Amino acid sequence: MPFLSWLIRRTTLPMYLRHRGEAGQLSYLDEFARIEKLSLDEINQIQLHAFHKLMQHAYRFCRYYREIFRDIGAAPWDLNSIGDLQKFPVLTKELIRENLDGILAKNIDPRRRLRSATGGSTGRPLVFYRDQTCREKKLAMQLNFMRWYGFLPGDKHLFFWGAARDYDRLDTFKARIVQRAATRRWFVNMNDLKTENFDRTVERLANLRPRLVSAYPNIIYSFAQEVEKRNKRVKFDKIVVTAEQLFEHQREKIEKVFGAEVFEQYGSREFGTIAGECLYHDGLHYFAPGVVLETVTEEGRPSGENPGNLLVTDLWNYAMPLIRYQVGDLVRLEHAPCKCGCELPRVGAVAGRVVDAVIKPGGEAIAGQALIAVIRKSEIDAQTQIIQKGPVEFVLNYVSGRKLPEDKLSFIRSGFNSVMENQVKIDFNRVDKIERDRSGKFRYIKSEVRSPLKI
Ligand SMILES: [Zn+2]
Repeated sequence: MPFLSWLIRRTTLPMYLRHRGEAGQLSYLDEFARIEKLSLDEINQIQLHAFHKLMQHAYRFCRYYREIFRDIGAAPWDLNSIGDLQKFPVLTKELIRENLDGILAKNIDPRRRLRSATGGSTGRPLVFYRDQTCREKKLAMQLNFMRWYGFLPGDKHLFFWGAARDYDRLDTFKARIVQRAATRRWFVNMNDLKTENFDRTVERLANLRPRLVSAYPNIIYSFAQEVEKRNKRVKFDKIVVTAEQLFEHQREKIEKVFGAEVFEQYGSREFGTIAGECLYHDGLHYFAPGVVLETVTEEGRPSGENPGNLLVTDLWNYAMPLIRYQVGDLVRLEHAPCKCGCELPRVGAVAGRVVDAVIKPGGEAIAGQALIAVIRKSEIDAQTQIIQKGPVEFVLNYVSGRKLPEDKLSFIRSGFNSVMENQVKIDFNRVDKIERDRSGKFRYIKSEVRSPLKI
């Protein structure tokens, strides 16, 4: 019902956001829609201006960064270009834990800091903070990406979600009114997909007709498999997947079962949505006026055209400036212009989380997809998880009604041997269930071998 969406967008939604002190995101959304039409030069100008402002702020109000400026013998006014960021050390999660107090900006009242934490898929959760303006800009940026897929605030939005803390609480009458009259967010979680709840969930979704679906790929993929198996009919239009790696076979299945177009987004707890696919599905654009992305090699040098360890500088977070923060993902930056005409720069490919890398006996980290591809090619009908226990030792957990036949086992063994360029040992382990990690993410591959890249 476009009229209802329009009405909500003009009336109850702004009222609700004002009540929560979050109405700013709607005006930022208009600003971002204007900025994304600018030329790359103009975008870079805005980025450079924001960069200078942030560096001056960090110098004045954050002890940690002031000491770094002193160590490198520079002041904010000496920084001429974004490239000067390379003089700064990489900010790791460990450094944040050790220096939290020095990183938090002293001019921002602690009561006005908004606290959040990473899900802990890379180890211990990390606590971090942002200010309200930053939060609203992040929300606006997310809305801006969704606008590309035809979604406007006030439209119905369905989530297939893993992280329970993100759900809107709908346990009171008032909350349900707010949901229907303003936020218009619906959630499906793992519980709704259990056998005993499945039919009811399908029924609920068949009539919902959301303008946009946001999903963890593995959750919507399992749903698609089940819908197909049971011969049910659920149609969606546009689906945005985020938070976990999306594999090509999953994209194909999801698009086929729901008759939908799938778009990939990339983000993290620390920064929110960073990049999103445009209608051309050729890499993911990121909003350069709010963020600087760099990719570096293990030695910390720019990785150029090759995938590298992603470092993010958040140009909006004034409560806790994050400068050259190492997210833990292997990413390739794309330098060629996109056919869609938008000149926001692009992330070419997210080659996988560094924690999802496998470490070769020589210490080299390679993206775990190579091993996942072996499993795919073996055509075994089982959910699997690969755990690297040692340089050439693996455990392969799989969920299946029967033991894997010997020819499949030897196919997988020889595939792993050739990827690892060594004779490997694999323990095949039939299990009832593969657990998600604490943040609700499903991890195909884990390595317990340390690498210099690992954080
Ligand atoms: Zn594009």
